[in-house]
Amino acid sequence: MDTELYDLLGVPPSASENEIKKAYRKKAKEHHPDKNPNDPQAAQKFQEMAAAYEILSDPDTRALYDESGMAGLGPGSRGPGGMPDGADMFAQFFGGGATFFDFSGGGEPRRRKGQDTELPYNVTLEDLYNGKSVKMNMEREVICNTCQGSGARGNAKPKECVSCEGKGWTFIQTQVRGFTAFRTIHWTFSFEIAASRYGTSRTKCTECNGQGSKLKEKDRCKKCKGEKTVQEKTRQEIFIERGMPDGHRIVLAGAGDQQPGVPAGDVVFRLKTARHESFERSGSNLLTNVKITLSEALLGFSRILVKHLDGRGINVTSPRGKIIQPGDSIKLRGEGMPTYKNPDQKGDLFVVLNIEMPDAQWLQSVDKPALERLLPPKKPNMDPMPEVVDEAPYEEGDIVDVRARSFPASSDFFDQGFASQFGEGDEDDWEDEDEDDYDHDMGGEPECRPQ
Ligand SMILES: [Zn+2]
Ligand SMILES: [Zn+2]
Repeated sequence: MDTELYDLLGVPPSASENEIKKAYRKKAKEHHPDKNPNDPQAAQKFQEMAAAYEILSDPDTRALYDESGMAGLGPGSRGPGGMPDGADMFAQFFGGGATFFDFSGGGEPRRRKGQDTELPYNVTLEDLYNGKSVKMNMEREVICNTCQGSGARGNAKPKECVSCEGKGWTFIQTQVRGFTAFRTIHWTFSFEIAASRYGTSRTKCTECNGQGSKLKEKDRCKKCKGEKTVQEKTRQEIFIERGMPDGHRIVLAGAGDQQPGVPAGDVVFRLKTARHESFERSGSNLLTNVKITLSEALLGFSRILVKHLDGRGINVTSPRGKIIQPGDSIKLRGEGMPTYKNPDQKGDLFVVLNIEMPDAQWLQSVDKPALERLLPPKKPNMDPMPEVVDEAPYEEGDIVDVRARSFPASSDFFDQGFASQFGEGDEDDWEDEDEDDYDHDMGGEPECRPQ
């Protein structure tokens, strides 16, 4: 029995799958070319071990190897009981992903499954709140139904390609690192594979496009012109379900391009939520900002505070005798986003209450001494007075400039809120707040749909 591959990994032929895996990991680490820059043989050893592991980690190829050594994996050899030939199997190892090389055919790379197509799909928060179905027209390649994907007219058979003698590739003599590596395990066939990995010593036959055979012009299917597939317009429908998270992938299985002998790939729509002018989503919770007036802050309110994503008005009544501080937030239980797959269960809607001060026009219209008597007293001066007191002129400042500056603590000045910066007020006011909302607020942008 040939034990060379086992010897390479330093395990006995009786080793379990797990033992082989462990041994390979250890050896691969040890012999990784990056770790052995001074050893010119490192890359070779590494390649050898990788090849050995690829064969021994698969029960099918391991069985073939155990039975007849390297010869069992060579081209054209048949495994017992109609197993696919070893070359085909071996070819899979180097595929990595969707493509693998099929040596039993012409040498044209063959795919296990068609390529998946991933497309971004823009949705609004309303779409995700309410759900929606979208019909769209798509074009894809489908197997030609005139020739059933053979590309041939009637029963015409392709003729062997003269240029490559049916191999699908032509050979170029170039030096490839993998060459010697594989030669040391006396496996001439692997030379070709190793070389093809680096794409240097084998090249696809241009005459037959790697097929190994060719249909004569007159033998080609009229409909697809020998291409085997034709373009087809299809109408697809996707369902944006209530509560789907941002980035969710909606998979249309098998809706991708068809190719003869290969299951079609999937078409995947990846949801991308557009920024909403009023609401922000955090999982199943929503956040919004609402402006209330000074009198509402002092005397309370009972009105439609929010227009929701489904168009409903949400009426809220503040408790009697409650003074609302700037930035106070309230929670509207069950008014958040629906839970995906369980849309009747909803998160909460957090509303940050911002207080709109009255304008100059209002001030002009009121009896100021009367107002002063109504309002709480102004702040007295500091006691004790600082020893030095300077007068600074009152100048309106553009807050945007200050905010754009970065501060040594690597946090933005205003991220902390005024409270922690100036040691004044209640810090908790800003705790739940997102930076963006604050930005909005400071910028005077419309926060909510004013009611
Ligand atoms: Zn056709
Ligand atoms: Zn050819």
